[in-house]
Amino acid sequence: MSFDSLGLMPELLRAVREQGYETPTPIQIQAIPLVLEGRDLMGRAQTGTGKTAGFTLPMLQLLAPHANTSASPARHPIRALILTPTRELAMQVEESVRTYGKHIPLRSTTIFGGVNINPQTKALRAGVEIVVATPGRLLDHQGQGNLNFSQLEILVLDEADRMLDMGFIRDIQKILALLPAKRQTLLFSATFTDEIKQLASKFLKAPATVQITPQNTAAELVRQVVHPVDRERKRALLAHIIQSRKLQQVLVFTRTKHGANRLSEQLDKDGISSMAIHGNKSQPQRIKALEDFKKGAVRVLVATDIAARGLDIDQLPHVVNYELPHVAEDYIHRIGRTGRAGSEGEALSLVCVDEQTLLRDIEKLLRKDLPKDVVHGYAPDPSIPAEPIQTGRQGSGGRGRGPARAPRAGSTPVPRGERGRHPSRPGARGK
Ligand code: AMP
Repeated sequence: MSFDSLGLMPELLRAVREQGYETPTPIQIQAIPLVLEGRDLMGRAQTGTGKTAGFTLPMLQLLAPHANTSASPARHPIRALILTPTRELAMQVEESVRTYGKHIPLRSTTIFGGVNINPQTKALRAGVEIVVATPGRLLDHQGQGNLNFSQLEILVLDEADRMLDMGFIRDIQKILALLPAKRQTLLFSATFTDEIKQLASKFLKAPATVQITPQNTAAELVRQVVHPVDRERKRALLAHIIQSRKLQQVLVFTRTKHGANRLSEQLDKDGISSMAIHGNKSQPQRIKALEDFKKGAVRVLVATDIAARGLDIDQLPHVVNYELPHVAEDYIHRIGRTGRAGSEGEALSLVCVDEQTLLRDIEKLLRKDLPKDVVHGYAPDPSIPAEPIQTGRQGSGGRGRGPARAPRAGSTPVPRGERGRHPSRPGARGK
């Protein structure tokens, strides 16, 4: 998937290229076409997913037809408002607006508390199409008659959950009451709590929903392939793939400690240097194995999910699921060890007839089917019936559910002045 296929105009593609972005992130792939269609949107995405470009790029495109270089303030009415919980985020978002919009003559400014209000007033009076604001200070400007939203087309609520956590709900409601009913509204939030859903049902019209979690972000960027194979031929296939493709630094996942040990021994016998790491090995043993693996002394590291979790191993070129995990989310964690935006990474899964349900669960979670590639000479024998999967007495599958989710990105407390309830400090940040 490239940026070219998202329907963006040349001016934006140029700006994206100049930023050095090669492939759109999952939230961008999903959100950009929907926003361009004019849909309202609910996006579940955290910082780091590329969500800012996900809404900024299509927003700029929708505003571009009436962009102009006129000096007259009247020719630059406010056409888009982006609300953020903090001044830091407001500054970041406006920076993105400038970066992506540098080849389109649209003006933007930031509005937030804790700084002198006068330069902001001046910027608003000069005319700006795009305002990025925290709620409190925006209402102060409203009180001073500095704002006219009659031409507003697009509203973005960024990090809506944080705005609610910070007690901005009444301010948001007041602001929404100032905006034309006919507009496009985009809401981004790291979580979809009942409060967020309520807000959305009140202020969004038939929104499309896109959901990205950091875990499945990686999943979208990694080349993933399923190799169907018979249960008894997995080891031979793995050795064949490693040898024929001369793979180095291969992280292989098994479901059980016993399976990890056995596979590692067998690979060694096949002449492929290998070590197993799992819960029965001490931390120093694991670290030693990892170091040997990283410096290339060991070609294959065979790991269980739990053992891999505590170790600093990512950015690997190849991850192999020798056995699919019982919990679909673990698949995402496993393949998150490889590939990042721009860097090569592949995840191969050797899947036998017993694992079809696990595969379906994973595809459901990914919301896509994984490509299947039968390796020549290793086609599964269709007469072999499925058997229940051996979980191993104390295998890594024993803990039931997936790991606890990572906490949300740390939030900086809002400066008191942010809410616009406090006298302005001197030292305005001039624009
Ligand atoms: P955000 O989640 O919007 O805060 O963006 C996180 C970071 O990813 C920012 O530093 C962006 O510059 C960067 N970024 C956004 N889109 C892409 C992309 N398609 N490729 C590479 N980096 C990106």
